[in-house]
Amino acid sequence: MSTETLPDKPAPAPEGGTEAGNYFVSNYPPFSFWQAEQIPAIARVLDSPPNPDVPLGVYFHIPFCRKRCHFCYFRVYTDRKPDEIRRYVRAGMKEFEMYAKRNYLKGRKPQFVYFGGGTPSYLSVPQLEELTGHLKELMPWDEIQEVTFEAEPGTLTEKKLDAIRNMGVTRLSLGVENFDDHILDINGRAHRSMEVYRAYGYARNIGFPQINIDLIAGMLEETEDNWKRCVEKALEMQPDCLTIYQMEVPYNTGIYKTMQEEGKLVAPIAGWATKRRWVDYAFSQFEAAGYEVGSAYTVVKNKATTKFVYRDGLFGGADLLPLGVASFGHLGGVHIQNNADIGAYCDAIERGEHAVFRAYATDPDERLIRDFILHLKLGSVKPPHYQKKFGVNVLERFAPQLAWLSSEGFATVTPEIITMHREGLLQVDRLLHEFFLPHHRHARYT
Ligand code: SF4
Repeated sequence: MSTETLPDKPAPAPEGGTEAGNYFVSNYPPFSFWQAEQIPAIARVLDSPPNPDVPLGVYFHIPFCRKRCHFCYFRVYTDRKPDEIRRYVRAGMKEFEMYAKRNYLKGRKPQFVYFGGGTPSYLSVPQLEELTGHLKELMPWDEIQEVTFEAEPGTLTEKKLDAIRNMGVTRLSLGVENFDDHILDINGRAHRSMEVYRAYGYARNIGFPQINIDLIAGMLEETEDNWKRCVEKALEMQPDCLTIYQMEVPYNTGIYKTMQEEGKLVAPIAGWATKRRWVDYAFSQFEAAGYEVGSAYTVVKNKATTKFVYRDGLFGGADLLPLGVASFGHLGGVHIQNNADIGAYCDAIERGEHAVFRAYATDPDERLIRDFILHLKLGSVKPPHYQKKFGVNVLERFAPQLAWLSSEGFATVTPEIITMHREGLLQVDRLLHEFFLPHHRHARYT
């Protein structure tokens, strides 16, 4: 039985306006605990023998965008010349070569590849072909189950989409965010709604096995009526999968900068309760049309055929090889992140050095917490699975937290399954902080 207790004060309930900060939990322990001092741990993993039982994925970060969105908190560049982009892509390929030679990765083949950004579709067709050709030469894709590619609608032509499909991409993820051109404009997006329809039409004709569209609930100037129209338009498109994020305002966004200049503590966007209600509305409309809720953020048209190999691999502790500036990965139980400056990243790789700038070697309890909380985002977890995988009874290990979720009406807990209710699922990121080890709670999550 765990001796842990809940903190005196539960995690701040963002019931009112949206204040600055990161609420979305994408990893554990939080990034702010990763340190340069732990980098030697990754060298030890890379020198160790490969573990054939652990699935392998590759993440390639393309940090270029046409414009920086006002809500963006990623490492992106909007002003790079073609020769700088070429240099970056070559550095990524060289980084992959360096990894592929290491003992831990020798002879292994990826089960999933993810091109994320930034905007991967910002690259030209020859750059995309050179990049994937090289990746396949070093680690053949004959065991690949999923290749995901994030795209900004305004960068997609029919020719580029053809090339993306021919690369082997199985899951195209379109960053639509909103269908209203004024809202797209006021939030700094580069694309407009006509480009969404054009790109989606092309992509459907080409026949990608899975097309996802992203929306954001609570962009600057979003209204109830406009949100409903967005949901209606998304539904008309009949995507295989719809992902909805609730807008947050991390400290490195343009919106936060403006808040600081104006001395505001609350962002000029919808509050958390409104955003939850909007996501709930979207989920209900899609459910009425036959879709199923697949996680706190997604609805899927056909749960039986729509796989999430990258997400499931990531949540389950697969090895994820991070390529590119500021990329995050996980190898042999060690979290790593690359240097976040493109010049320093390219320089290091060109010198033949890895560009990791911080790392965290997880212990078994941290790996259990990570696996458990990330899976709660999917809506349910099965305690017997954790008994088998970690030898831990999660009903005991997390007894206070589960009792609290139950008493608040956020979840139902039985020995066989823990099920998040809709109200709990829609604010799951806030609730997950309660499962963190005490010294990781309420850290600024950056
Ligand atoms: S397109 Fe995506 S990565 Fe690029 S600036 Fe906008 S939010 Fe950031």
